[in-house]
Amino acid sequence: MLHPFPGGALALDFPGTLRFRHRSEPREDLSAPQRLGEWFQQAGITQDEIPLGPADLDAALRLREAVYRLVLARMADEPYDTDALALVNEYARKPTPVPQLTAEGRQMEATAEQAFAAVAQDTVTVLSGSDASLFKECSNPECSQIFLDRSQGGRREWCAMDPCGNKVKAAAYRARKRAAGRKALAGRTR
Ligand SMILES: [Zn+2]
Repeated sequence: MLHPFPGGALALDFPGTLRFRHRSEPREDLSAPQRLGEWFQQAGITQDEIPLGPADLDAALRLREAVYRLVLARMADEPYDTDALALVNEYARKPTPVPQLTAEGRQMEATAEQAFAAVAQDTVTVLSGSDASLFKECSNPECSQIFLDRSQGGRREWCAMDPCGNKVKAAAYRARKRAAGRKALAGRTR
């Protein structure tokens, strides 16, 4: 599957793999170890497929939720959860993926542990830097994706036009039409 990367940072896109957290049933993009492997590849953390098992997936989901908790705390200007902080820092201490030069160019190689470390170190970098002031949650009420709003004047509203921007714009259009319809009806009965 093709994973979306609308966040602008691994620390935001990794939590985004549990999509639509504001629905009663969020959508899990990392439903199998293979999906996690695809995410690492598409995120550019590694080029080769990393052999991953169910234990790796469990660890990844724990790390993901810890990263998400820290991001939310940073956005709300609240203290970090100590367990989440300890977990992310533990992974951040591990070695990260290694770039290698090959005839084809730069090749990124990673073990599962190195891939986790890449996400954890990105979390440390993003949350401790000035980019954290650009965090914004998508304006689609169902969508929980947080992104870095680098637009001029901080006007970006959606994680992506498809589906979120389109969906909200379509809903606003329908609401306007309904309101116009009510007005027309009121005009007729007057
Ligand atoms: Zn969205």
